[in-house]
Amino acid sequence: MTLMSEALTCSVCHEPLTPTTEAWCGECGESYHLNQRTDLPGKDCGSVWINEEHLALEFACNNCLHPVPAGLEDVLDLDEAAAYLRMGTPDLAGAAERGAVPHRKTSAGVYLFVRKDLDAFQR
Ligand SMILES: [Zn+2]
Ligand SMILES: [Zn+2]
Repeated sequence: MTLMSEALTCSVCHEPLTPTTEAWCGECGESYHLNQRTDLPGKDCGSVWINEEHLALEFACNNCLHPVPAGLEDVLDLDEAAAYLRMGTPDLAGAAERGAVPHRKTSAGVYLFVRKDLDAFQR
């Protein structure tokens, strides 16, 4: 008889799970953090609620509750874009202002870039 000693990790944040924080998503079947002890600190990477029709607990991880819309993975802000290009943020902001890199500036003054434009700029 073998003991399952392999540590479970959370499918949302990839940190280890503990017996009081492990839960299983009913959508994707992956494990995630759900603090089941109100007297202990813990994090929640998903939710649990009661299905009123079946009076059963339903579990869902944040990956399933808040999926990243397709395409948004490739939109980067100034810090992310500068890290991606390995250049300083002021340099990249300057290049954007000069029109050297296609970008969008939001109403809050945040620069947004599309990854393929950064690839083209780097070449
Ligand atoms: Zn987690
Ligand atoms: Zn899930």
